[in-house]
Amino acid sequence: MEKSPRLKRGKIRTKLIIRLIFVALIPLILLVVFSWRNTYRTRINSVSELETTTILQAESAIKKWINERFLGFRIKLTTPSTAPPIILSSEAAKSKEEVLLVDVLKVILRDILQNDENLEEASFISLEGEMQMKILKGDIETELETEDFTKTEGFIKGSEGQSFFGKIFFEEKIPKTILFSPVLDPQDKTIAVFKGKVNLTSFQEILEDIEIGRTGYLYLVDRDGNIIAHSQKSELIGENVKEIEGVKKVLRGESRRGLEKEDRYIGVCGEKVIGATLPVFNFGIITEWPEKEALEIVRLILNSTLRFALLTLVAITSIAFLFAQGVARPIREIQEGSKIIGKGNFDYRIKVKTNDEIEELAENFNEMTKDLKEVQRLRDVEIKSKALAKSLAKERELSEVKDTFIKTAAHQLRTPASAIKLAIEFLSEKRKEFSSEIQEFLDDALSGTKDLANIVNDLVAVSEFGFGRYKLENPKPIDIVKVTEDIIDKYKFEIKEKKLNFQFQKPPEILQCQSTLRAMRFITQNLIDNAVCYTKKGGKIILSIRKVKNFIEFKIEDTGIGIPDSEKKLIFSECFRASNAIEQKNVGTGLGLYLTKNIIEAHNGKIWFESEKEKGSTFYFTLPVIKKV
Ligand code: ADP
Repeated sequence: MEKSPRLKRGKIRTKLIIRLIFVALIPLILLVVFSWRNTYRTRINSVSELETTTILQAESAIKKWINERFLGFRIKLTTPSTAPPIILSSEAAKSKEEVLLVDVLKVILRDILQNDENLEEASFISLEGEMQMKILKGDIETELETEDFTKTEGFIKGSEGQSFFGKIFFEEKIPKTILFSPVLDPQDKTIAVFKGKVNLTSFQEILEDIEIGRTGYLYLVDRDGNIIAHSQKSELIGENVKEIEGVKKVLRGESRRGLEKEDRYIGVCGEKVIGATLPVFNFGIITEWPEKEALEIVRLILNSTLRFALLTLVAITSIAFLFAQGVARPIREIQEGSKIIGKGNFDYRIKVKTNDEIEELAENFNEMTKDLKEVQRLRDVEIKSKALAKSLAKERELSEVKDTFIKTAAHQLRTPASAIKLAIEFLSEKRKEFSSEIQEFLDDALSGTKDLANIVNDLVAVSEFGFGRYKLENPKPIDIVKVTEDIIDKYKFEIKEKKLNFQFQKPPEILQCQSTLRAMRFITQNLIDNAVCYTKKGGKIILSIRKVKNFIEFKIEDTGIGIPDSEKKLIFSECFRASNAIEQKNVGTGLGLYLTKNIIEAHNGKIWFESEKEKGSTFYFTLPVIKKV
């Protein structure tokens, strides 16, 4: 037998769980990705904004300082308008006024050096480019620089009335620069150039005041990429950091806002940072904010989003599991049920209550099981009826064989039995011619042949009337009185011999019934035979036939042995003989009354009797009379 493909246990459930989780997973992944992207972008924007603001703040502070301290730096002499013009030159210095002027300038330089903490040395250069005076901090006059300043950019600017500061250099890691600035007379005419060495430690102070988060910092580099100031790590001052990405950019003059991918690099403190840059004068300002802090919020949000997604996933998985379980369980019940039903248990019913198609499916299954049970029942019935039909046919066949045998045997026996009977009767009529011994033999033989004839007659009758229920075939009107007379005639010899008082009370009219001669002869003979047989010598038999309403009533009354009460109910049974009858006559088939009843009932008649043991019996039967037209 081919096996139906079986669902693997839990396969539907697993599929459902996987699909549900998959369906839930997509929005969760999207949620995480979008939330991360949005947070990241927003944060990068705010980081950029903060860095830009900070850088601008630093720029404005630095610019302010430079403007105040460098670009706006002027030395202006105020003398009465009547005074002669101040000429500062080596030649002119020889005059008295000039000597006075040199003294004034000395005072001014000393004063500036004293009051300006950033200024470390100060000098005057004549318009001819010759240094005239140089004082160090602490009022120390020092040797004059002998170089010709006329070609120096700072001197040229200064002599043109502008301030100028030069390249930044470091002395013991302190950033410094040289400032050139014009020295003006009261008419704003440049009369000399001021040269000062200025330390730039103020930049450090400016930057230290500016903060970006906890770990963000700002620094200032010169044109060579050396750190001039650093808001958090002053020890880095003087370091060359031109390899740092932000520094490279600012040296190229780029101003960046920290928004691009390239703005994320390893900063001067060795951490990955988000950097922004701004070139200012000869410097570059750079802010660097370590990603770790700057993007911490992104990481936190991402973490909590991931945690939320994970929790949601766990919740969805549990729900999916319960849901899948709920869907798969009834299916499994149907599957299990189908296996039980498949094994032939058609009384099994699948119990599924889901109020949906699955419940409908289970109901259909149950309906199908009912049908299968009915089909099986019909098949069983068919098998049984076939077997029964077979055995009935067999029985019928056997019965037919038996009937045929009895019929054939009975008919075959009749001829020799009659021949023997005739011969013995013939010899009996001449009995006086034989010895007394032979006479005795003849008497026995006569009685035996009579019995034999009776048995053969019964057998013939059985074959004719007794098999199954007798059916009257081809009936015709039969004169019952005539038939009775013929039978009585047959018993004349016996009646005479037993000295019986036999009376026949005939009806006044001819009474006919629809029957056959064979049937009528059989029933009348049987009753007359019994009466004659079971009535002792000298007894009385009264036979009467009369019409009672629409029936012919046949009544035969004798003074015979009667029938014991206890055996009365068996009288019409097949092969029954009462105990007293057996004592009286040991030969008999017990079929006569059984067949008589069978025949009478086939005529729509009735048979009954009254009897008293040792006193006599009366047998009655009625048959429908044919009405005279
Ligand atoms: P059989 O006469 O061959 O015994 P029956 O069927 O004719 O068979 O009768 C059945 C039995 O009924 C008899 O054996 C007998 O016991 C009883 N019986 C019938 N008729 C009489 C009768 N007239 N008087 C007494 N008993 C009778």
